[in-house]
Formats: sequence, C-alpha cells, structure tokens
Amino acid sequence: MSDDCIFCSIVAGEIPSRTVYETDDVLAFLDANPLAPGHTLVIPKSHHEHVQDMPNDLAGDVFAVMQRLVHPIESAVDADGSTVAFNNGEVAGQEVPHTHGHVVPRFEDDGGRPIHSIFGERPELGDDELDDIAASIADGAE
Ligand code: AMP
Ligand code: ZN
Repeated sequence: MSDDCIFCSIVAGEIPSRTVYETDDVLAFLDANPLAPGHTLVIPKSHHEHVQDMPNDLAGDVFAVMQRLVHPIESAVDADGSTVAFNNGEVAGQEVPHTHGHVVPRFEDDGGRPIHSIFGERPELGDDELDDIAASIADGAE
C-alpha cells in the first residue's frame, strides 16, 4: 500500500467504491466520474504505478479480470461494444498513479471516437528507422 494513493485507500476499504468483482489480487469497481454508464476500472490490489511495474503474472490477472468483465459490463448497460484501455504514464493522461485498466461501454452514436483519435498527426518514419525501432524493442523484450 502506498500512502496518499486513492486506489490503495479503496483496496483498504478506507474509501468506498462500487465493487463489481474481486479476486485475492485484483479489484474492479465503477469509475466515480464515468465516461459512460458501466465505466469500470480494474486494478491490482498491490500498488504499482505503471503497467510495466506489475509482475508478469499479476498483469495477466488484471487483464483476465478485464476480459471476464467485458460481457457483464456491456450486458448491464446494453452497450454495443467497449473501449478497453490503460492510460500509462502522466504524459499519456494517467491521473491516478496506481495502474488501472478502463472498460468503457460504447454505444452507436455515442459521439466517442477510437483510440487512434487521441493522437495528432502521424509521424513519417522511414524503413531504416522502423527497422531500428523494431530491433530495439525486440532486444528489450528478450
Ligand atoms: P486515469 O486518467 O486513467 O488516471 O483515470 C483515473 C480515473 O479514476 C478517472 O476516470 C476517475 O474518474 C477515476 N476515479 C478517481 N477517483 C476515484 C474514486 N475514488 N472511485 C472511483 N473512480 C475514481
Ligand atoms: Zn496505490
């Protein structure tokens, strides 16, 4: 648990939440300021700031809960689909520094847009640059 972390306080029961599902390691609850009815957050119970800070098994557990909840969430609010995403890092819009996945129900004509719309102009990347980036990622993933 991290002091001054609102999501750790929710895990500890110090701040109320509308819990929809939990396991020993993962908690899912309704977002307090939802982007759509049924907007749900899924968090590891232990404090990790970023997606990449979680142990691999825990990351799998978090995603498994997100995947498990998609159908019940969409059914509960009669949604036509959902956006399933993490804001990872402050620069990416992460406001609460305890990693959390969003499941946001989507509806026909809800005025929302795809994840691609977050970004501005696409960078122009040459083949060599793409090859270098791919090689560097592949090295780091070893
Ligand atoms: P992010 O911008 O990805 O860090 O999203 C943080 C999310 O946490 C926002 O959608 C907030 O509405 C939500 N949130 C903040 N405080 C609470 C809380 N006490 N209970 C439930 N959701 C919260
Ligand atoms: Zn925390």
